[in-house]
Amino acid sequence: MTCKNPECNKDMIYKKSAKRRYCNDSCKNRVNYLRRQKTYGHIFEWDKLMRHNYHILLKLKQKDLGPISCQTRESHGVEFGHLHKDEAIIDDNGVKMMVSRIYDIQFIINNKQELIFI
Ligand SMILES: [Zn+2]
Repeated sequence: MTCKNPECNKDMIYKKSAKRRYCNDSCKNRVNYLRRQKTYGHIFEWDKLMRHNYHILLKLKQKDLGPISCQTRESHGVEFGHLHKDEAIIDDNGVKMMVSRIYDIQFIINNKQELIFI
């Protein structure tokens, strides 16, 4: 009988019970971890990037710097790409506009590629 952890595959010489599938707890945990990664890995990765961006944007927002250039965002390590959700809102003048959001931070990117918090 061999360990069911594909990264281990060791022959289990001593088995405490016939039902035993892994040679130890770390093999068992590893298999569970790999299974979760396979199913949810892309979500974990997404969440990690969103939280990463959120923390940076929150700091920038609290500094109240005005429009934030692309260079500033990059130098602070903001990972963009498609990692924010766009949604339509109606502003105070009743004008519909598209804003981006990371959790509770809303912003727009203007035509100079500057980020403006709203
Ligand atoms: Zn093992």
